[in-house]
Amino acid sequence: MPGRRTIGVDMGGSKLLAGAVDAELSVHHRAQRALAGLDQAALLNVAVDAVEEARAFAGGEVVAVGFGIPCLMDHRTGRAVIAINLPLADIVFGEVMAERLGLPVFVDNDANVAALAEHRAGAAVGCSEVVMLTIGTGIGGGLILRGELYRGAIGSGAELGHTVIDMNGPPCQGNCPNHGCVEAMASGTALAREAVRIAREQPDSGLHRALAEGNVLAGPLVTELAYDGDAAAIEVLELIGTRLGVAISSFVNIFNPQVVVIGGGVMAAGDLLLEPARATVAARALPPSRDEVRIVTAEFGVEAGMIGAAALAFDGLGKGAASR
Ligand SMILES: [Zn+2]
Repeated sequence: MPGRRTIGVDMGGSKLLAGAVDAELSVHHRAQRALAGLDQAALLNVAVDAVEEARAFAGGEVVAVGFGIPCLMDHRTGRAVIAINLPLADIVFGEVMAERLGLPVFVDNDANVAALAEHRAGAAVGCSEVVMLTIGTGIGGGLILRGELYRGAIGSGAELGHTVIDMNGPPCQGNCPNHGCVEAMASGTALAREAVRIAREQPDSGLHRALAEGNVLAGPLVTELAYDGDAAAIEVLELIGTRLGVAISSFVNIFNPQVVVIGGGVMAAGDLLLEPARATVAARALPPSRDEVRIVTAEFGVEAGMIGAAALAFDGLGKGAASR
């Protein structure tokens, strides 16, 4: 007999991924939609359409919908307070979607739900204390503490990307008023900026040639050049990995996690980023936490947010919480 399903929806800056997911977090149908350039009304229509598609092919009764959205949430009201890449601010997103879909709807920050997915079925299974970073255009943060997703007093905590690693560093991105946040210094955006700087400093490098040929020095190309052995590209990844390691050292000291899980598009670089991060943590964090922590790549890749959003919906139903 087919079991119950929830629909997990991950809304990124440019695309939406919806999946019909069972209680064991296996995915039964995936629906993808482009989001770039949509206004709020069109965005909501696209989200409803993707959920309805996933529902139609779910292969079981759909009982709730979970959304992971790139927003700072206020859980007192269900309102998305700051949304950097999508026109979602100033609506009570969960209530609006619950009415449109006729199902209970649960909403959380995208990095929080990614942490939930890794904790339930990915790289952090069996761990009570987990730090999750998702590195893309920015750096998202999620925390599992004492086995539960930690959200802070009103739901806007765990913004680990806005941990300062250089008080006099560059201005942060989006709506953050701070300087030298790890997001400003080790995100995919920062990686691209440092790649251009190092390419210009090293005219004999493959990185310099790639820049001179008019290529965009973003994560994928830098990673490819580094795997080919280009010293300048390797230097870029070492710099970004070291900066991540400085931030992770603080997280290790504060939370004493069993595991730090790193996801997001930049993680195609794998150990080229993680080895300098691990070395920095070994050199800078306090014993004994630093000697116990594992620093690993996320297992779910681009589906972490979708699967975590589905898990959020199962959790929400189980707790009997109000839909929003
Ligand atoms: Zn910041």
